[in-house]
Amino acid sequence: MVKSKYLKVKCECGNEQNVFGNSATVVKCIMCDKVLAEPTGSRAKVYGKILKVL
Ligand SMILES: [Zn+2]
Repeated sequence: MVKSKYLKVKCECGNEQNVFGNSATVVKCIMCDKVLAEPTGSRAKVYGKILKVL
């Protein structure tokens, strides 16, 4: 029942980046190195603003 999808997340720095919704690893912003998502069990906890579910 796990859905795999990408989220488009906007970081504080203005960078928009695609983040895997079920990421098993910490995802950092490629521009400022801030953590955008981190794994919490089955779903990633997303920081920053989710613009769109891809
Ligand atoms: Zn950033």
